[in-house]
Amino acid sequence: MASKISVLGSTGSIGTQTLDVARMHGLEITALTANSNINLLEKQAREFHPKMVAVLDLGAAAQLKIALRDTDIEVFCGEEGICNAAVEPECDTVVNAIVGVAGLVPTLSAIKAGKNIALANKETLVAGGALVMKSVNSYGVKLYPVDSEHSAIFQCLQGCPKNSLKKIILTASGGAFFGKTKDELENVTVKEALSHPNWEMGAKITIDSATMMNKGLEVIEASWLFNCKDEDIDVIIHRESIIHSMIQLKDNAVIAQLGVPDMRIPIQYALTYPNRLASPTKELDLSEIGCMNFQKPDYETFRCLSICRKALRLGGLYPTVANAANEAAVEMFLREQIRFLDIAEIVGNAVDTFKDNTENFTLEDILNTDKNTRLKVKDKYGHNNY
Ligand code: NAD
Ligand code: MG
Repeated sequence: MASKISVLGSTGSIGTQTLDVARMHGLEITALTANSNINLLEKQAREFHPKMVAVLDLGAAAQLKIALRDTDIEVFCGEEGICNAAVEPECDTVVNAIVGVAGLVPTLSAIKAGKNIALANKETLVAGGALVMKSVNSYGVKLYPVDSEHSAIFQCLQGCPKNSLKKIILTASGGAFFGKTKDELENVTVKEALSHPNWEMGAKITIDSATMMNKGLEVIEASWLFNCKDEDIDVIIHRESIIHSMIQLKDNAVIAQLGVPDMRIPIQYALTYPNRLASPTKELDLSEIGCMNFQKPDYETFRCLSICRKALRLGGLYPTVANAANEAAVEMFLREQIRFLDIAEIVGNAVDTFKDNTENFTLEDILNTDKNTRLKVKDKYGHNNY
């Protein structure tokens, strides 16, 4: 069980919920980090007394240093500063709740420093799964999933003999636009895309849920965590978000993990594994839920899911490309520079036109591919304004 944790991205949705869990179980906080929200970071620092904090934005870091000068908390800045937090000497577990591929280098740094990882940052595995899994093995650390579906699978697998898994069944809420046709999606707004039916999350993952890119990223994430191929991973729409995912075993028995949609359950399990402790979340009352529904995903309308599956089958750097194009596209959609349906167009186009694939890639290749893909997308669409 984790006892001293560093929380990367502590001011975000997963980060603040991680601190709820830490508060409840008296976990010691060794480091906290944020992009630029120093007001909340300062508040967190004063409550949890970490050894250090880090802020990506240099100006914000300088302000925080002044604000915290009456404390002995060290303040670091930039990407290097975030990596310092990931390798804080006393910490045993790093919770990575950063959004986007920016989480990859800190994850690798933490692994190399021998830290266990509680991973919410799925983009780490999508863009760099091969490297991450290799480092996890060579440094002998544990990687615990925080993403609710992957935590569910991890929980279902407890006690199953090795090689008994036949397939993974990932559940998907379907996001804000489930059931809509392409025509109906033509003019949807940012505000509409940001209203998720069941989960309160950061903006990027909420848009990813609306496009179903999130489920595509999760298929790739699952392939690394549970060593399976595209064809071993089914996706099923389950609007109620009560079953968080399932596994089918060789004898066709299916095991599911259920609970109220509250990320503090998977966050806590990643930190307390294999123990089960009391939780601040609500109990599940199935009579209140009444019934649960399941449907096939619409791969034609929500193309991002198919594109991610294709990227996974192609392997190598294709998932890195799909992820980078999506990150750039979502940023532009949130700034109202492109339309909702352009996101899938951009991601599909990036994957279809990518030429420099290689199986034996380095971290530098991943970072370059990520950068070049974003530049290409921004060059083509960045000047738009709808
Ligand atoms: P969020 O936007 O609410 O928070 C992101 C955090 O990362 C913030 O603390 C922010 O300051 C920090 N950050 C942003 N950009 C950064 C950068 N470039 N470098 C360093 N720090 C940066 O996001 P979130 O919803 O908490 O999601 C975090 C991760 O967890 C994502 O990968 C997401 O897919 C995954 N996830 C989230 C949920 C959820 O319920 N929110 C569920 C499953 C998985
Ligand atoms: Mg998820």
